[in-house]
Amino acid sequence: MERDKIFVATKGRVGADDTSEQVVERVRKSLERLQTAYVDSYSIHAVSSIEALSQPGYHEAMAQLKAEGRVRFTGCTYHGPRDPSGPSMGDVLSAAAEDGRFDVLLLVYNFMNHEESDRIIAAAKTNNVGTTAMKTSPGVLHHDPVDPDNLTEQQERYVKLFMVRDQTREQALERLQAQATRQKDLYDKTRSFVEQCGLQTEEQLRLGSIHWVLQNTDMHTACVAFTNFDLIDKVVPLSGTELGSAELQMLQDCKFALNDQYCRHGCTECGGSCPHGVPVSTIMRYAYYYEGQGREKASMELYAELSGNDASPCRDCRGDCAGACPYGIDIQPKLFQVHDLRTLA
Ligand code: SF4
Ligand code: SF4
Repeated sequence: MERDKIFVATKGRVGADDTSEQVVERVRKSLERLQTAYVDSYSIHAVSSIEALSQPGYHEAMAQLKAEGRVRFTGCTYHGPRDPSGPSMGDVLSAAAEDGRFDVLLLVYNFMNHEESDRIIAAAKTNNVGTTAMKTSPGVLHHDPVDPDNLTEQQERYVKLFMVRDQTREQALERLQAQATRQKDLYDKTRSFVEQCGLQTEEQLRLGSIHWVLQNTDMHTACVAFTNFDLIDKVVPLSGTELGSAELQMLQDCKFALNDQYCRHGCTECGGSCPHGVPVSTIMRYAYYYEGQGREKASMELYAELSGNDASPCRDCRGDCAGACPYGIDIQPKLFQVHDLRTLA
C-alpha cells in the first residue's frame, strides 16, 4: 500500500524537563521502529495539566520535525485526572483546542460518556482542530465458561500469564474459574435486557457504539482497538453512514441497562469519599482494557505500575465509597475483583 494513503498517528510521554533534543531523539527512534520516513501526527500522551500543554521542549521539537518533514501534525491526549484535585479532560483539551499549536486531539467519547467531550468537540470545531475518539465502546456483555480440558486461546493466555509468577497450573485455573464466575454473575444481571434488545452478540453492541461515534460529523475519526481482521471489515463501512432508528433504540436501552456497570473514564466524582486515595476511574479503565479490549497483558502491567496506589486497601476497608457514585456503581466489590484479577503475585 502507498504510504500517503495511510495516516499514521503515534504519541509519547513528555516530561516537564524534557529538552527538544530528547523529544526529537524519541521521535526518530519511533520512526525507525515504524519503518517510515514520517508520521502524520505525534501527540503528547496523557498531558497532565493545562500548563503542560506549553512544554517548550515538545513545541521546539515539533517545529523542527515539521520543518524536516518528519511530523505533519501535532496533538495531545488526555483521559482526565487520577484524583479529584487534577484538571478535568474538558478543561485540558478545550484549552488545547484554543491554544493554537495543536492540530489534533484524542479524547474519550462514547454514547454513555460524552458531556465533557461535547465541550471539547465544540472548541475544536471553532478552532479548526481535528478530533479522534477513544474508549468508544463502554459495554461488556459476555461471559466465557471455563472447561479446563478445552480452554479458549484467551483463557490459555491468561493461565500462562499467571504461571510465569510461579503459580501452578491448578492455581491459575482456579483463578480463571473464579473470574468466570464473577463474569457470569454480571452477565446474568444483564441477560434479560440482552434478550429484550435482541442482541445476539456483544459485537453488535460494539459496532453500534462505534457507529454512534462516527455519525457525529464533528468527531473526525475513531481509535478502535481491533482484535481481529474481520472487525476491520465491519467497522470501516460504518464511516459516513447514519445510525438507524433500531440501532439508536438499542443504544438507548443499553445506556439504561449498563448505567450502574460502566465506570465513566476520567470521572473523579467518588474520589473524595475514599480515605486511601484509590484512583477508582483509572483502575476501572485498566479493567476495561482487559475485559473490553482483550489486552490482558497491558492491563496487568499498567495496574502493576500503580503499586502503592492500587486497590489493595479495598479488601479490608469499611467501604466509605458506598453510595458515592452518582450512577449507582457498587465500587468496592468491583475494585476488589479488579485487584484480585490483575495482581500477578
Ligand atoms: S465509580 Fe462512579 S463516581 Fe466513581 S469514577 Fe466511576 S463513574 Fe465516577
Ligand atoms: S472500598 Fe475503601 S479503599 Fe476501596 S475505593 Fe472504596 S473507600 Fe477506597
